[in-house]
Amino acid sequence: MVYKWCVVPKCTNTCINSPQTLFVSVPTDCKRRKKWLLLARRDPKGISSTSNVFMCEDHFDIVIVMLNCRWKKTPLTTCSTKWVSARRY
Ligand SMILES: [Zn+2]
Repeated sequence: MVYKWCVVPKCTNTCINSPQTLFVSVPTDCKRRKKWLLLARRDPKGISSTSNVFMCEDHFDIVIVMLNCRWKKTPLTTCSTKWVSARRY
């Protein structure tokens, strides 16, 4: 299993200490990735553009969309893309 931890500063959620938490992969697409990281108040330059980073569900206000996807067993990547386009990121 991939070790997932939340990239947001001061958030201590990881897949180990919070296995019920949903982690959303930050897009690898350059522009969207930068936006997500800025929203998370992280310096995009401080994080490798190829590394797989995550944000936990605590920082999303449309969690219901993702919960819906999880319920339908839709792959999260598809889910987060939908969420991103819904938010026009
Ligand atoms: Zn978090």
